[in-house]
Amino acid sequence: MQKAIGVLTSGGDAPGMNAAVRAVTRAAIRKDYRVIGIQRGYNGLLNGECIELNCRDVSDIIQRGGTILYTARCKEFIQEEYVKKAAEKCRELNMEGLVVIGGDGSFRGAADLSRIGGIRCVGLPGTIDNDIQCTEYTIGYDTAMNTALEMIDKIRDTSQSHDRCSVVEVMGRHAGWIALNVAMAAGAIACITPEMPYDINAIADKIIKAHEAQKEHFIVVVAEGVENSEGITKQLKELTGIETRLTVLGHVQRGGSPTVRDRVAASQMGYHAVELISRGATNRVVGLKDNKIIDVDIQEALAMKKPFDTELYRVCNEITF
Ligand code: ADP
Repeated sequence: MQKAIGVLTSGGDAPGMNAAVRAVTRAAIRKDYRVIGIQRGYNGLLNGECIELNCRDVSDIIQRGGTILYTARCKEFIQEEYVKKAAEKCRELNMEGLVVIGGDGSFRGAADLSRIGGIRCVGLPGTIDNDIQCTEYTIGYDTAMNTALEMIDKIRDTSQSHDRCSVVEVMGRHAGWIALNVAMAAGAIACITPEMPYDINAIADKIIKAHEAQKEHFIVVVAEGVENSEGITKQLKELTGIETRLTVLGHVQRGGSPTVRDRVAASQMGYHAVELISRGATNRVVGLKDNKIIDVDIQEALAMKKPFDTELYRVCNEITF
C-alpha cells in the first residue's frame, strides 16, 4: 500500500492554516505519498474522521481563513492509552508521518505521539498569538495584527469625533506581541502587555499632558493577557477626566483572508514539514529565524524562552506624546 502523510489542525484556529494544509498536501503528492486530512485535531484521529486529500481538494483554499479540516481540543490526549490508540490508527492508515498544525499544546500531543506511539510527527506553528518560543513567526500572526489595526483605525475615527480615549483589548493569550506591534502601528499613547510592568498613574499623566498640548483623542492598547481591561478603562476615566471607552476586539482577530506574509510562511513551512518526514526526521517543530525556515526538536522547542521586544516597546512609548 502507498505510504501516506497525515495532516491535522489543532487548538485555536489561525488564518493561513489552510495555506499550510494546501502546501503539505501538494508537497506530499509530489513525493508520491497519499495524503490523509484528519478532521477536528486529535479527536478526529481517535474517531477515524479522516478524508483523503488529492491535489484539487486543496484548490481555492489558500485565501480562506479558518481551517477546512476543522479544529478541536481533545482532553483525552494527555493520557497514554489514547496516544497509543491514535498511533495505532496512524499505522492502520500506513502513515509515514503526521503534520500537526497548532500551538504548543498541540506540539505536546505531537511529542507524545512520536515518543510513546513511534509516529513521525512534525509541528507547524499555527497561532495568531506568536507565542511559540522556537520561532520568530507563527502562521496567522500577521493577519490578526492587520485585522486588529483595521479595527483600531475605525475606532480612532469615532474617538477623534468625540474627543475620547479608547481602550482597545487585543488578543494574544498570555503574550503581548499583537498588542505591542498594533500599538506601534496605530500610534497608541500607551501599550499594556503582560511582559512589562505598567503604572496607571504614569499613563494617565501622559494622557493629561498630551491633552494639555492639544491632543484630543487617545488610543490605549491592552493585551488580553493583562486581564484587566475594564479596570484600566475605569481608572483612566477617573484619573484623566476624559471620556474613556473600552472595545474588546475578540474573535474577529482569528478570522479573515490571510495576508501575503501568512500565506508565504504557511506554504514554506508546510513544504518543509513534508521534506523532514520524507528524510526520516521526527519530533520536530518548524519555525522561522532571521527569515529562514528552520526546524527544532519539539522538547527543545517547548523549553525555549522568547525574549520580549523591549526595544520596540521603548520606541513605541518614546514617540507618542
Ligand atoms: P494550542 O495547540 O493552540 O496550544 P491547546 O493547548 O488547547 O491548543 O492544545 C490542543 C490540543 O493538544 C489539546 O486539546 C490536546 O489534545 C493536545 N495537548 C495539549 N497539551 C497536551 C499535553 N501536555 N500532552 C498531550 N497532548 C496535549
